[in-house]
Amino acid sequence: TRNHFDAIVVGAGPSGNAAAYMLAQRGLNVLQIERGEYAGSKNVQGAILYADALEKIIPDFRDEAPLERHIVEQRVWMMDDAGHTGMHHRSDDYNEDKPNRYTILRAQFDKWFSRCVKEAGATVIYETTVTSLMRDASGWVVGVHTDRNGEGITADVVILAEGVNGLVGRASGLREELKPENVALAVKEMHFLPQEVIDARFNLKGDEGVVIEAMGTITEGMVGTAFLYTNRESISVGIGCMVSDFTDVGQATPHGLLDRFKAHPSIRPLLEGSEIKEYAAHLIPEGGYKAIPELVGNGWLVVGDAGHFVNAVHREGSNLAMTTGRLAAETVADIILSGGSCSRHNLAAYVDAVKESFVMKDMKKYKDIHGFLKKGRHVVDLYPRLMNRAAQTWFRVDGVDKRSKESTIMREAWRARGIGGLMGDAFKLMRAWR
Ligand code: FAD
Repeated sequence: TRNHFDAIVVGAGPSGNAAAYMLAQRGLNVLQIERGEYAGSKNVQGAILYADALEKIIPDFRDEAPLERHIVEQRVWMMDDAGHTGMHHRSDDYNEDKPNRYTILRAQFDKWFSRCVKEAGATVIYETTVTSLMRDASGWVVGVHTDRNGEGITADVVILAEGVNGLVGRASGLREELKPENVALAVKEMHFLPQEVIDARFNLKGDEGVVIEAMGTITEGMVGTAFLYTNRESISVGIGCMVSDFTDVGQATPHGLLDRFKAHPSIRPLLEGSEIKEYAAHLIPEGGYKAIPELVGNGWLVVGDAGHFVNAVHREGSNLAMTTGRLAAETVADIILSGGSCSRHNLAAYVDAVKESFVMKDMKKYKDIHGFLKKGRHVVDLYPRLMNRAAQTWFRVDGVDKRSKESTIMREAWRARGIGGLMGDAFKLMRAWR
């Protein structure tokens, strides 16, 4: 019938766009439905784009995609209230023909990706919300209902790429309610500055960019991190903590934390004189491996944030979204083009493909980190504090001999945590990191 498609993709974020693009490329009849006014209008991200995941979908994306700067330097900062101790990694090797990471502005990037999806032949409709899944008498998913079309639209398969809230999946009983301990709430601002000011402040030329990831006393004892990314003429700055920690641990509000981060002596000079233009808040699924829901069923599968695919340790999300979207599309195309049905049994090939990829391997590697931090919340505050104290003791030249300095550093750590505590933390971290 007129309203029947091979596949319906719910959502036009990175995962939905990857899926819809790949399906259309394989010649399938695809409908993509996005509730936003345009792709990217509802999305918030830092944002770092990981080239590898997109290259596997659109190999020559660099010719046309709206990219800001390519990353040549990564800073990881452990902060106390007065400063930071950390690692800077910078290399001219990143000034390569095909750089590996870029800063992007999601609104522009998603719009461009959505245009590619349409050019590949998919039908894309905006300002339309999928309200529920349509099922047959046996419970098989056979299409969707939207807030525009009373009868619904049918398809062989529905790909849920609806992001972290996943209301359709939840309302349809495909996945559980979001638990506050499995999601982070992140807030973000855009600070505008002339390009040459950003270049000078961060020691950059051309399209080079810098990433700062920060943790420590800035989150007031809550599990979370902050970031600062250089765009061409703006700086994205944000902070996020677990939703449960906002109620259980601190008194702080997300906006209060961001204000505090921006006022930090290590951050303030980098933002000085900037004009703030955007403020946004968004959830990030950070419950890790153990929070991944059922991924396939008869007539449906889940990709991206809706499948809880975020590697919080490495700040990766959109690449996992694009990769799961691509793998889902490849599975679906193989099934439909060979005349098979999109049964749970056949769609399980998608789950196998995700398990074979870096996506599930990384999710699995860090499966215990979430639990480690939940029980050992002190590490996010205490160790950055100790590192900064140790650095000060070590670098001050004050007539105290170096052996005595070493003893002072050890004594302070013991006093703070006890030898058993220190060894226990190290052991638990090693186990969780394995
Ligand atoms: P989304 O991007 O959330 O897209 C889902 C889409 O579905 C939306 O457009 C939404 O409007 C639409 N939708 C939802 N429900 C419906 C419905 N019922 N009907 C129709 N449409 C619907 N990742 C990185 O890789 N690098 C980063 O630097 C980074 N930084 C981040 C910083 C912040 C502050 C946040 C919040 C996240 C960050 N992430 C980052 C994570 C990244 O944004 C996500 O992992 C990624 O956007 C997931 O893509 P997605 O397509 O699965 O979901």
